[in-house]
Amino acid sequence: MNANLYSLFRSRFPQDLDDCWLETEDAQYYSWRDLERGTAKIANLLTSLNLPAGSRIAAQVEKSPEALMLYLATVRAGFVYLPLNTAYQSSEMRYFIEDASPAVVVCSPKNFGWVTQIAFKAGTQHVFTLDEAHAGRNSGSLLSRAVHHADTFETVQREGDDLAAILYTSGTTGRSKGAMLTHHNLASNIRVLHEAWEWRTGDVLLHALPLFHIHGLFVAAHGALMNGSKMIFLNKFDSSTVIRHLPRSTVFMGVPTYYVRLLSDPAFTRDVCQHMRLFVSGSAPLLAETFSAFMQTTGHTLLERYGMSETAMLTSNPYAGKRKLGTVGPALPGVSVRVTRSDGHVCAVDEIGDIQVRGPNVFKGYWQMPEKTAEEFTADGYFKTGDVGQLDSEGYLSIVGRSKDLIISGGYNVYPKEIESVIDELPGVLESAVIGVPHADFGEAVTAVVVLRPGAELNEAGIIHALKNQIANFKVPKRVHVISELPRNTMGKVQKNNLRDQFGK
Ligand code: AMP
Repeated sequence: MNANLYSLFRSRFPQDLDDCWLETEDAQYYSWRDLERGTAKIANLLTSLNLPAGSRIAAQVEKSPEALMLYLATVRAGFVYLPLNTAYQSSEMRYFIEDASPAVVVCSPKNFGWVTQIAFKAGTQHVFTLDEAHAGRNSGSLLSRAVHHADTFETVQREGDDLAAILYTSGTTGRSKGAMLTHHNLASNIRVLHEAWEWRTGDVLLHALPLFHIHGLFVAAHGALMNGSKMIFLNKFDSSTVIRHLPRSTVFMGVPTYYVRLLSDPAFTRDVCQHMRLFVSGSAPLLAETFSAFMQTTGHTLLERYGMSETAMLTSNPYAGKRKLGTVGPALPGVSVRVTRSDGHVCAVDEIGDIQVRGPNVFKGYWQMPEKTAEEFTADGYFKTGDVGQLDSEGYLSIVGRSKDLIISGGYNVYPKEIESVIDELPGVLESAVIGVPHADFGEAVTAVVVLRPGAELNEAGIIHALKNQIANFKVPKRVHVISELPRNTMGKVQKNNLRDQFGK
């Protein structure tokens, strides 16, 4: 048995390789045979470079079918894929390239100049370009080089414990770390999700997420590959394009922001969702309001799940059973989730504490950080997720926040999510983020940053007054700042770092 993840996907291809594997927005069709041959050519090209075993292939490329093939070809050839957010600028790219020392870097043609400089300085031997528009097949282009290689390739033998990918964490709290994921981590997780979400014959995935993140790559794209299902592949999320393709799809995955945007589009109706079977939400907290509005508009219940770069998916609301608002569901089969006190004791039902997890999906460690890795695991092998939450009596997990976001004010623990939920309920409030800022007396002072609904006439004093009636005084924000929009990263996560910088004085 070859534990190479590509072998698993290959075993799931439909019998007729001429079936459509991927359809692009501009109606180009790729068959499963195209996938098999395309990845063979790229794998042959990579192999011809005589790279050392375990070499990293870093890619900062726009989303395209070929970018997905590059990932699969890297895995197929036994190398380690390292996807990088397209938003990263040169100082960030320098950090990742110096840290991971990839043997190959693939970038957009427009960035070739500066990426090459950084890469060569860091000792990378090969830089290629990959263009989302299939244009510019110049000599540096990966595709123009790959095209001359054979279209068959014997998938390289890998052990389950060998690395398949390194995902740099989004670094919303501190320096980004490279999470090392093995073939077994990814294979075991997608097998579990395939079953849990009841993937079936005839499913069509509408893919609108980026490919440099776990959600778009290891949950969405892997899901369709594991089911031998066609993907309708959008280069980016855009509500009207999604709405246009929904009637021919059955499965859609998104971050909460996507659902908020869909709901604000009048063309998003029950009718366009007629053939849909499953809408998955994750990567950031889903607001109760979005969950309810979605149900009202479409008749569908969003399925919220929870995971992270280090662990792939951990919990999921059930496909068939009760999907509980405000929770991310129970642990997936094979995954253990527990909530602990700071002394390591397991919390009682509904008690808030640190979320720790164990399972075949949990990563091998942080790239070249053995000490940091050791710190993040308990003596009995649980990974400390850094998230804070509680388990209810039915084993459903709720996430209260990141432990780094926990505010300690005058010796009291304040969980931002609790305050945010109360603020969000106030008439006139659209959404909020609560942070701790340094305070001479209290250590930290609770501070709220609030976005109002259009036309609302709420101000700082009004919000503070309203909260005083509802929550303990130590939880009431000392200051409330009203702004027009919360800063979010591409995955919809609110960047509390930025808010702390802006309002922390
Ligand atoms: P990433 O590694 O970029 O996927 O980020 C993982 C983090 O996103 C987790 O540790 C959580 O803090 C957060 N996250 C993921 N899914 C959810 C969810 N459904 N609800 C709330 N937070 C989530």
